[in-house]
Parts: sequence; C-alpha cells; structure tokens
Amino acid sequence: MHIDLSGKTALVTGASRGIGRATAVMLAKAGAKVVINYNRSEEKAREVKHEIESSGGHAEIFMADVSDPGQVDALFDFIRNTYGRIDILVNNAGIIKDNLLISMRLSEWDSVLETNLKGAFLCSRKAAEMMMANHSGKIINVSSTSAIRGGRGQVNYASAKGGLISFTMSCAVELSGKGIQVNAVLPGMIVTDMSSRARKRAADKILDKIPASRFGQPDDIADLITFLASGSADYITGQAIPVDGGLSIS
Ligand code: NAD
Repeated sequence: MHIDLSGKTALVTGASRGIGRATAVMLAKAGAKVVINYNRSEEKAREVKHEIESSGGHAEIFMADVSDPGQVDALFDFIRNTYGRIDILVNNAGIIKDNLLISMRLSEWDSVLETNLKGAFLCSRKAAEMMMANHSGKIINVSSTSAIRGGRGQVNYASAKGGLISFTMSCAVELSGKGIQVNAVLPGMIVTDMSSRARKRAADKILDKIPASRFGQPDDIADLITFLASGSADYITGQAIPVDGGLSIS
C-alpha cells in the first residue's frame, strides 16, 4: 500500500523527540506539510524540521503548551494563517509523574490529566472546527496500554490515557457525519526518553510480558498513525488500537 498525504497539513503535538518526532518525520515522508509543536526544546524541534527539510519535506515549528488554552489558540491561529487548513491532528504530547496512589500529590494528578487529556481536548476542539469546514479530517490520539491494563504508580497516567480512549469514541460519534475520523493508538513499551527509567529498572520483567520479546520503536507507532491519517483508513473510526508486541493480551 502506498500512502500519499501530499496536499495535507498535519499537526503533531510534542514532536521534538520520541514517538512525536518519528511521526512528524513519517507524515512528512508521505508528503504532508507538518507543524512540529514543542513545549520547551526549540533546538530539538529545529533538528526535526531540518531532518524533514533535508529529505525534501516541509515543516514548521511552533511552541505551545497544549494544556494552556491561550497557547493552543495561538498554535491554531498560526496554522490557519500559514496553511488555511488542518487535515491531520496527532495528539501525542504527554508526560508521566508516577507515584503510588497513597503518596500521589494533587499536583502530580493534575499535571498529568492537564497535559495528557485536557491538551487533547483543547487541540481537538480547535482542529475539529477547521476540519468541519472541509468536511474531512483525521484525529489520532496517542493513548497507552496503561489505559487498559493499569499500571503500578500510574493512577494519574492510566486515568488520563483511559479518558483519552473514551474521548476518542465520543469524538468519533460526533464527528463521523462531518467526514472526520478519530482513533486512538495504544503504544506498549516503546524505546524513548519517557520509558527509559522503567526499562532500566525492570527490563527483563517487562520483556517477559511482551510476546514479541522486544521493546517497540517509535517507528512502530508512527507506522500505524500514518496509516490512520491516510485515506486507506477512512472506514475506521472510534477505535483504540494497541501497538505493543502483544503486551496487552499477555
Ligand atoms: P517523550 O517524553 O519522549 O515525548 C513526549 C513529548 O511531549 C516531549 O517532546 C515533550 O516535550 C512533549 N510535551 C510534554 N508536555 C507537553 C505540553 N504540555 N505541551 C506540548 N508538548 C508537551 O515520550 P514518548 O514516549 O515519545 O511519548 C509520546 C506519547 O506516547 C505520550 O503521549 C506518551 O504518553 C505515549 N506513550 C509512550 C509510551 C512509551 O513507552 N514511550 C508508551 C505508551 C504511551
């Protein structure tokens, strides 16, 4: 299958590293113009832009904290003024603040829900409005297998990622009549900065639970996101799809 996203504009949140970076690069390779959203690291965002442009693609960078409504408004004003449209939104930005339930601080709960769930709401609300005008669009939410398995020290993270699946289904129901498909991908244990502590602490224990006997790579997730962003996935909506080497069934 050949995926052609030429003529499409995509926004990937939290795209300066990890899964977001791989996704931005892959969408650009498929021909999309990509907006690389970042929160802090302008230098790394510029590196991603450079990587895309050196293979003939098009990318812009834009700083915004996805949990801040004013900054999300500015991000979408930039997209409207630069491209006049958005075809693909990947809600990828996410954080972890692991702690056991009885020790979890309110700030740890709030910040994870704010970035991982409210951020997706704020970006989807703006994107859906623009997509509805074209009667077409794809929203892809990066959830986690933690949403369906739970995780020790992850009551905040698992709740946010579980909420993101419910959010996905509700958006899909509301938006399918408007030509917009909304899906969630559920990464398992992927080799990025976010998972490095867990992998260092308990690599063998985690690998024992992964039937594929390996950790995932960011491209494993970017592959599915790119497919879901394409016309080949027009009849798929409201789904939560694990990409986890079998972790969620083990
Ligand atoms: P990462 O930490 O490498 O990347 C996350 C990115 O999000 C970073 O660039 C960070 O700056 C950005 N970000 C954080 N808060 C932000 C905010 N408020 N506004 C804008 N950007 C913000 O992690 P990753 O592994 O690449 O994670 C990407 C997504 O995949 C996250 O949603 C994560 O929860 C999810 N995920 C990762 C794994 C894994 O094993 N790595 C597993 C399941 C789900």
